Amino acid sequence: MASGSYRNGGPKLSAKLDRQHSAVYSTPKASAKSRPPATPATASGLRRSGAGNPASTPAGNKGDAGVPGRVRVAVRLRPRNAEELVADADFADCVELQPELKRLKLRKNNWDSETYEFDEVLTEFASQKRVYEVVAKPVVESVLEGYNGTVMAYGQTGTGKTFTLGMLGEEDSAARGIMVRAMEDILADISADTDSVSVSYLQLYMETVQDLLVPGNDNIAIVEDPKTGDVSLPGATIVEIRDQRSFVELLRLGEAHRFAANTKLNTESSRSHAILMVHVKRSVKGRHDAEPGLPTENGNASRLVSSLRPPIVRKSKLVVVDLAGSERIDKSGSEGHTLEEAKSINLSLSALGKCINALAENSPHVPFRDSKLTRLLRDSFGGTARTSLVVTIGPSPRHRGETASTIMFGQRAMKVENMVKLKEEFDYKSLCRRLDIEIDKLIAANERQQKDFEDEVERIREEAQSRIAEAERNYMNSLENERSKYQKDYMESIKTLEKKWRMNQQISSNDKTTVEHDQCLEKTCNIEGSTASKSEEIAGVRQLLQNERLLQESTEEEVNDLKGQVLHWKNLEAAASAEIIKLRKLQDNEANQKQKLEEEITILKGQLVQLSIETDETRSRFDRGGSGKIVTGLDSLMSQARHSQIRDSGNGPKASIAKLFEQVGLQKILSLLESEDADIRIHAVKVVANLAAEEANQEKIVEAGGLTSLLMLLKSSEDETVHRVAAGAIANLAMNETNQELIMDQGGISLLSMTAADAEDPQTLRMVAGAVANLCGNDKLQTRLRVEGGIKALLGMVRCGHPDVLAQVARGIANFAKCESRASIQGNKVGKSLLIEDGALPWIVKNANNEAAPIRRHIELALCHLAQHEVNAKDMISEGALWELVRISRDCSREDIRTLARRILTSSPTFQSELRRLRIEY
Ligand code: ADP
Ligand code: MG
Repeated sequence: MASGSYRNGGPKLSAKLDRQHSAVYSTPKASAKSRPPATPATASGLRRSGAGNPASTPAGNKGDAGVPGRVRVAVRLRPRNAEELVADADFADCVELQPELKRLKLRKNNWDSETYEFDEVLTEFASQKRVYEVVAKPVVESVLEGYNGTVMAYGQTGTGKTFTLGMLGEEDSAARGIMVRAMEDILADISADTDSVSVSYLQLYMETVQDLLVPGNDNIAIVEDPKTGDVSLPGATIVEIRDQRSFVELLRLGEAHRFAANTKLNTESSRSHAILMVHVKRSVKGRHDAEPGLPTENGNASRLVSSLRPPIVRKSKLVVVDLAGSERIDKSGSEGHTLEEAKSINLSLSALGKCINALAENSPHVPFRDSKLTRLLRDSFGGTARTSLVVTIGPSPRHRGETASTIMFGQRAMKVENMVKLKEEFDYKSLCRRLDIEIDKLIAANERQQKDFEDEVERIREEAQSRIAEAERNYMNSLENERSKYQKDYMESIKTLEKKWRMNQQISSNDKTTVEHDQCLEKTCNIEGSTASKSEEIAGVRQLLQNERLLQESTEEEVNDLKGQVLHWKNLEAAASAEIIKLRKLQDNEANQKQKLEEEITILKGQLVQLSIETDETRSRFDRGGSGKIVTGLDSLMSQARHSQIRDSGNGPKASIAKLFEQVGLQKILSLLESEDADIRIHAVKVVANLAAEEANQEKIVEAGGLTSLLMLLKSSEDETVHRVAAGAIANLAMNETNQELIMDQGGISLLSMTAADAEDPQTLRMVAGAVANLCGNDKLQTRLRVEGGIKALLGMVRCGHPDVLAQVARGIANFAKCESRASIQGNKVGKSLLIEDGALPWIVKNANNEAAPIRRHIELALCHLAQHEVNAKDMISEGALWELVRISRDCSREDIRTLARRILTSSPTFQSELRRLRIEY
């Protein structure tokens, strides 16, 4: 009867996978929070969720390691076809499915079978809708969230790969395959205003990539970005998709071209791989959109910086691959191929098998570069994409061998672990567009203001002139009136006098001699003075004359008054002119300030672009060096800063971080560390970390209080990214002895311990451990470091298990042991090692032969330092360290360490007596 034994996919496998997760990804709390959807059920729960969702990682965090996501594998059985119904009528199918248990039994013979477990087992009755939902929908949803995704079909020709992926379903909509259904879901989810979808459709045959949308384009190159390792096909046609109808049309066109191309090459489509690439670009709303416009006041740098934050876009890619048939090609050439052709046809598929084997076995080398297919699928297996594979099999016992090999391929693929990562980046182009619009608006507003101002000045001038003219006119008129009135009165009084004089003449006697007019009058007065009437008349004339004089005086006064008024108006005019000059000056000042602001915007724009490039470089360096030591990480930051300086000295087009430092000013950058806005804080701490990587900046940063601010951030911020970057900067600053003392004086050890206790990300722990390890190398700080819990903090971080973190812990312990050893030799220290006192020995012994060379090397050195002092010997024996010393003295690959271990063993009386007791010859 059936033995029911389990192979790879069985319970043993899942146990193994769980162990892998907990070893690599710190605490169970962290993995529960950050792990991506592992099954379709959780996948739908992932969409649009809040905290803990990988999709909410900001663009600045792209350098994060990603979250683990195993390749999901489903098996699908094709129903018996007409031929099989007849030919295999008397035989049982070679497989038996147990979909509820997700198991498949492959019959060996009538009494024995093997059982395999898959993520999904799809029977011959499974509908296309169900196949889409379990195999592809979680991947499509992930792509819509901003992750790359792959859906691939593998199996013997005729088992239903194309049926599963490529059916257009035009006659029977229930028959629609994965490609059509995926595009329906994508188009339904995206927003036409802000997002876009475009596709390429390609065929890979005999290591040549052909464009199925433009058939003449038949040798497309695969290009790899040397920095990020991302592959692209710049020569492939990309068509933007706006509706489902045009997409189906495109698939049909691709199929027709594929048929024509294969006829020309005298092959079948089952020998070639068809690859559909769907590029989804979405803008991330809500984080930067609700921002005020550009500041109009001068000197408000932080507002200026905040308005320069670029929007974020997610650019993800769905790759659907209909692989060539997995059956072996007969090398004898029965299909008309030469042996060379047969090899070439098989090359990509067999290379894919080799890569999956290597990945499944965690082999250090994965031969991705061996074929075009594996180069194209690099991100899908062991990369950052979410990948789902459907292996298709037929029921016929005649193809048992091919069916078994297809099943084994699926089983191995289930062991491949990807690190799913959000494909999110800053959209600098749209930021530039936004800024250009803002600048245009400002220019127009300024022009309008200037025009209004000039109009106002002109109006005031005209008004002043018309008032002056009116005052002058009034003055002239009243002057003229007064003059003519005065003249008239004068003439009238003369006439009256003359009349009176004539009358007097008639009255006086005829014999009187003619005298001068005045004398006669006088005489008349004297002679006729006796008569009262005459004297009255004279008094009347005098009165008239008196009146005339008064009138003249008042006219003169009025003239003076008018003169005064003219003077007043003239003064007013002068004041108005002075005001105009003052306003002109103000206008000039404003124009200058505006120009300065525009220059500042241009500089900051350049710096932002540079900053993002540098951040990307740093990130990709971290990504690539992810499994290396922290030293590599810090070195890369330093060399990055150096690089940018070299580029600057060569007058490169881009300003470096060092330039940013000069132009924006360290104080300003440091002040941004305390910004209310979390995004600005993150940017600022990254800039400070980059600066701190350069030795030349370190002193300035510390002098300006940067070290204190970084330490404060560990306490005040709750953001893990801020903790990670700040700890990295502190680790860099902690390479210098003076700074090490400063860090200790400012309570650095307890802050770093707190950060380590809360950290979930191995990279944060790596930075913190690196900083503490640097402090451990300072002879003067030994006792304080121990009292303030430094050793305990280091030992606490081993909980994470990540090799990079362990390497830093080991380095710290080695540094500490070395300093202790030096102090003992100089007679400054007596008594047991503080490391032993703090319980470090068991961990040291456990990891002395760690398979990671950096960890092992540090621990071996630490053991030798400890063993040099007889006071430590007893503890070392009881904890098993003696065996490690013996091993080091025999097997260590470094000769100097080997020799040191041997010398210690032979010279220590305690070790010697123990070795003798155990009858070990030494
Ligand atoms: P492959 O692409 O693997 O060579 P095809 O998709 O061309 O295989 O399928 C071969 C034949 O089997 C086609 O006629 C197809 O319609 C049929 N077929 C495949 N899978 C199924 C299925 N699940 N149900 C019904 N017919 C199927
Ligand atoms: Mg096919």
